Amino acid sequence: MSRVISPSQVEKFYEQFFSSLKSIKQLVGRPLTLAEKILFTHLAKGSANNVERGKTILYLRPDRVIMQDATAQMALLQFITSGRESSQVPASVHCDHLIRASEGSHRDLLKAIDENKEVYDFLSSASKKFGIDFWGPGAGIIHQVVLEKYAHPAALIIGTDSHTPNAGGLGCLAIGVGGADAAEVMAGLPWTLLAPKLIGVHLTGSLSSWVSPKDVILKVASILTVKGGTGKILEYFGPGVRSISATGRATITNMGAELGATTSIFPCDENTLKYLELTERKFVADLISKHLSELQADPSVLDHPEDFFDEILEINLNDLEVGWVGPHTPDLFTPVSKMRDFLTSNGYPKEIRYALLGSCTNSSYEDLSRAASIAKQAASAGLKVKIPLLITPGSDQILKTIERDGILDIFFSVDAQLLANACGPCIGMWDRKDIKKGELNTIVTSYNRNFKKRNDGNEETLAFIGSPELVTAIAFFGTLDANPLTDSIPVNSHHFKFKEPIGSFAPEKGFVISYDGYQPPELDPQKRSTIQIIIDPGSERLALLPEFEPWDGKDFEDLIVLFKAVGKCTTDHISPAGPWLRYRGHLDKISNNLLLGAYNAFTNSTGQSLNLLTGQVSTPSEVARHYKEANISWVIVGEENYGEGSSREHAAMTPRYLGCKAVIGKSFARIHETNLKKQGVLPLTFCNPSDYDLITQNSRLCILGLQNLSESNKLKCVIKNEGQSVEIILQHSLADEEIEWFKKGSALNMFKK
Ligand code: SF4
Repeated sequence: MSRVISPSQVEKFYEQFFSSLKSIKQLVGRPLTLAEKILFTHLAKGSANNVERGKTILYLRPDRVIMQDATAQMALLQFITSGRESSQVPASVHCDHLIRASEGSHRDLLKAIDENKEVYDFLSSASKKFGIDFWGPGAGIIHQVVLEKYAHPAALIIGTDSHTPNAGGLGCLAIGVGGADAAEVMAGLPWTLLAPKLIGVHLTGSLSSWVSPKDVILKVASILTVKGGTGKILEYFGPGVRSISATGRATITNMGAELGATTSIFPCDENTLKYLELTERKFVADLISKHLSELQADPSVLDHPEDFFDEILEINLNDLEVGWVGPHTPDLFTPVSKMRDFLTSNGYPKEIRYALLGSCTNSSYEDLSRAASIAKQAASAGLKVKIPLLITPGSDQILKTIERDGILDIFFSVDAQLLANACGPCIGMWDRKDIKKGELNTIVTSYNRNFKKRNDGNEETLAFIGSPELVTAIAFFGTLDANPLTDSIPVNSHHFKFKEPIGSFAPEKGFVISYDGYQPPELDPQKRSTIQIIIDPGSERLALLPEFEPWDGKDFEDLIVLFKAVGKCTTDHISPAGPWLRYRGHLDKISNNLLLGAYNAFTNSTGQSLNLLTGQVSTPSEVARHYKEANISWVIVGEENYGEGSSREHAAMTPRYLGCKAVIGKSFARIHETNLKKQGVLPLTFCNPSDYDLITQNSRLCILGLQNLSESNKLKCVIKNEGQSVEIILQHSLADEEIEWFKKGSALNMFKK
């Protein structure tokens, strides 16, 4: 029986869900998609009847908050300032991001426990005090643990990590947010979301042979591109769904984040029930098994999807090709059969330096058993991997299960290496020693992100993403121009060729259930009040938050442009991870990483700004600190989809802390735009995107009309360029309540009152 979700709470949840759904259906008088059912039954105010997609702000009551250790620090520091005694909704913290991959699972874990002691002590003491579940280092990666332990169909989950949608594989509406959202919801406030548009993804055919769930999402990514999901929910349906396991569905919903999607969701069916039963949640399966039709889109939606979705994508699983995406972007797909030409025409090195298997996206039992079936064939032929193959299991439960079932031994027999149950190289926590910075090289992964520098901090690493079975097979070739589906490997006097992978999502003997690393919250309010939150006053890694000053009521005059970002500018570029993860709980220290990964049009370099007061080129944070001391405010200018990628709010907090008043882009990624609003920075977009070109290093910007800032109006901006002035128009997406955040200085300042 689950130790972390109680049957009585879940029973109450479904009683309310089904009864509220009945009333809502009568109210709206039309069939609903699954995403709508979950959104509408979680409305804290307003009526489902008046929801206009892309226009209405929804006020929602999430059922659960999940936080990973890097972002939980700031979320909990913000929650502390709310003065509440405990979290008002069930919540959990997972220690997975701070474990460096260096010498192998065991040693890396011990080292992490030592290196990150003060962070883990803070998170564990704050969790215990505020009634939050805590999963220590080694317990697993947040999304795998949530799928195994907490997720249940129709739950609305918010998480301080952009791959929170992983739980959509089990019929949850699970959405990545910033730490301020998490803090507010834990404090009992509703959570706001612009009503998303809906993309229906109609799956026909079935998965077979080498084609895996990863190939489904890579196909979707190649069609929709990295911007195609912005402001939208991807809802999967159709007969093809049946051939995808619950964990395979999670791979697909996980990587929907790469398209900027609000989230992705699968309907519930026998596969959902089976996974729940296998993972100590038979009581959930029993409660919903008779109501599965309500945990899917309504029949009329399935019959006439074009009437209910804003867009429809047709994918026939029988037609899918196995392939790689990359480098540097998850929507650039090349089938394995065309890789040779692709590499040659682009001059990319075909020799692979590393193969990385696992991460929260692809470390289920099914993934690892299919990958192991490939390794087993190679082992039988006497082969070893030609390049290092590093394996990251998603959780202690997965690790113990693959250990028991001999899967780990198969990997060891071909010389694969085991990393800790943690993010490791997926988040740049990789102590890579085989190359120097700036050295061009190729790696393959079964992860979800392949931005420049994402895995190893090296701009010249070309990361290609593929399915776990493909990553494993290619490790025996060592070169990316090989096609493991058709090519053979010479072994002595014959040629070895892989057969298709086989695996199972359900271990024959069941999962080895593990709660290692789990710390329950203190439930007794009296005992809870005596728990001290551990923050060392001399800490470099944690500090209580300063209060951001409210808006002074005046227009912004003569703002300096600190940085004009060129091209893709993700939150990884604005606030890089890797070694900086160390300072996630210390705003002043982490502010030193501001824009270090972004390319500046003014200096024609990455991570540098020109200080207009001194004429010196320096890091953007050094220049910003100088401006701040001189009482000069500044802005950042960006291009399309500014702030895409990870949900990290530090990318909004650090500019705010250093004196940024506004970020002006051609367009914004949803989470980052909200994060800027929450921190009191104005996210503004050019009405005419080519106005980006008018801004030069010496421009001074005046943003006018702020006293009349309202939901519907636009703002005037005067660009002063060496004696000449040009007026342009900027628009914004601030709702009335968000305008109040700006006026008060931050959303946090609002709920302190
Ligand atoms: S995407 Fe990578 S860094 Fe993010 S939670 Fe998953 S494993 Fe960790």
